[in-house]
Amino acid sequence: MSPRYLISLAVVFAALLSLASAQEASASKHQPALDVTSMDRTADPCVDFFQYSCGGWIKNNPIPPDQSSWDTYSKMQDDNRARLRGILEAAAAPDPNRNPVDQKIGDYSASCMDEKAIEAKGVQPIQSELDRIDRINSKGQLADVAASMVDDNVFFDFGSMQDLHDANQVIAGADQGGLGLPDRDYYVKQDDKSIELRKQYVAHVQKMFELLGDPSSTAVTEAQTVMRIESALAKGSMTRVERRDPKALDHKMTNVELEKINPDFGWQAYFTKVGMPSLSSLNVSAPFFFKTLNNELERETVENWKIYLRWHLVHAAAPHLSSVFLNENFAFYGKTLRGQQELQPRWKRCTEAVDGYLGEALGQAYVAKYFPPGAKQQALKMVKEIETAMEQDINSLTWMSPATKQQALVKLHDMANKIGYPDKWRDYSKLEIVRGDEIGNVERSKKFEFDRELSKIGKPVDRGEWDMTPPTVNAYYNPQLNDINFPAGVLQPPAFDPSSDAAPNYGDTGGTIGHELTHGFDDEGRQFDAQGNLRDWWTAEDAKEFEKRASCISDQYSSYTIIDEIRINGKLTLGEDVADLGGLMIAYMAWQADTKGEKLEPLDGLTPAQRFFVGYGQSWCGQTRDETKRLRATVDPHSPEKYRTNGVVSNMPEFQEAFHCKAGSPMVNANRCRVW
Ligand SMILES: [Zn+2]
Repeated sequence: MSPRYLISLAVVFAALLSLASAQEASASKHQPALDVTSMDRTADPCVDFFQYSCGGWIKNNPIPPDQSSWDTYSKMQDDNRARLRGILEAAAAPDPNRNPVDQKIGDYSASCMDEKAIEAKGVQPIQSELDRIDRINSKGQLADVAASMVDDNVFFDFGSMQDLHDANQVIAGADQGGLGLPDRDYYVKQDDKSIELRKQYVAHVQKMFELLGDPSSTAVTEAQTVMRIESALAKGSMTRVERRDPKALDHKMTNVELEKINPDFGWQAYFTKVGMPSLSSLNVSAPFFFKTLNNELERETVENWKIYLRWHLVHAAAPHLSSVFLNENFAFYGKTLRGQQELQPRWKRCTEAVDGYLGEALGQAYVAKYFPPGAKQQALKMVKEIETAMEQDINSLTWMSPATKQQALVKLHDMANKIGYPDKWRDYSKLEIVRGDEIGNVERSKKFEFDRELSKIGKPVDRGEWDMTPPTVNAYYNPQLNDINFPAGVLQPPAFDPSSDAAPNYGDTGGTIGHELTHGFDDEGRQFDAQGNLRDWWTAEDAKEFEKRASCISDQYSSYTIIDEIRINGKLTLGEDVADLGGLMIAYMAWQADTKGEKLEPLDGLTPAQRFFVGYGQSWCGQTRDETKRLRATVDPHSPEKYRTNGVVSNMPEFQEAFHCKAGSPMVNANRCRVW
């Protein structure tokens, strides 16, 4: 899957959207959205509310062999893949009268599905690129080759980003990158599991060189070379926690200043080759990384850099090559790293590839079929209710001064609500998709996306752009655009059905809308103003009060264990944890306002307030393989599902009242945290 340029996503915080519980529930109107069979009513809600809400679900939904985790979210995504498969199969029929959109998604899909043709080609599809690397005979040529490997994650990331200080402008940006493992921490941690994993990684790299035809004795040394280079780059990289401070990523400089830090890389040659010969300034998110890269460019021989480039070339291509490459890639990245037992069937992988590379083409067909116009209006209504609740919440805060409150309200009122799909579809007409040319399609798609990013540099920001495709089952807030985004994929029954029983609906979907909205006011989001400039609009006193309250939350979550001796890194998950709590608080307020004056009856032995909270709890039903738990502990800014449930409700007196929890119960946080 094409990773988007990290620089443009560096300050975009995606949240797993809370999904409705009832996996078997009917999508028809006025059905309760709560599935009581997913509960474990033998559990005490005041001791472990996650178990109480989801014990039945976990028992009834083992993790499928081709998945690394399984939850209400991934289950819905899996259902969605089947819908997309239907669209793609219809579009793949080689009908000369197909429209241009169907031609692209259909032919891409057909080429990806043609296992026999892919198998027959072996390594041949990347042979010319291997030859190009082979012909390098001086370090001066590295920049030129790097510019032709734009999406293979070599050396660093380069692309476009919104100017942190002029929210209307797009500028160029360079950032750390160039690693084969998921995070710099994997190269530096000294615990037994990390040391073992590094050994397994080196063995995998060796095998990939052997598959390219290198003798074992050579491949051993080559793998060690890759590990040595990547370890050095990792040590020069910022940690995820450091990167959560947007000010730490704010280093606009001229190209001359960049060349001073990193003189041994041919920047001018690189800019020229990617089509930006006159680029004169850019943001360098991690300057120390480029100093490190320079040291390594001096230290390592040109032959060693060729080894590094060959590894990244074959690594990036492996999912699209013949089975020996595909299976070896899965053995490490799927099985060892994530605990996945089986490779996903080809149709799932191909569907994801089309969604990744041609998402707004596939999205058009998806929206036409599965997102009726009325759904957009219904979603917008709920968003407005949650925003009204947030306004009341801000006005009622005792710790914030009127001056900061006024600024917060300006930001809230300026927040854009993007629902379902973009107003203007991305134009793929310049992207050539050739039936039968799988790797060519992949490469042209990557290049198309890279060029699209670069074409924005120097132009005004397009505020209508989306960072997720319409079929995505997820949502996000972008602090630089100050917008909340809910793709059509998540606004589907049973997750989204506003006419169903109100209490659980506000607990899950309402909680999610509240979550995204609160991101505008979490520890990172609060540093951006209403337009998306990195600008401090807080009084010093109020900022101090905010930080005091936020550290209550990071302390609370840092006490939770994920697996073995690994605890949540509360500084990594702070923004998400603040958003979870604030989101559910305002969803509760919105639910109360929505049902004011109504006489609410108990159902299934649960009071309306209990149903609100079980609705929230069931949005997080799920389980995760141990390997993936360890991976997420390092890379995921979200806390595990269990704590997204228990951590939040234990801070809410409304919950404790609803379930009559006594002081001293595990679900009653004696030192209650509250920010919003
Ligand atoms: Zn989030």
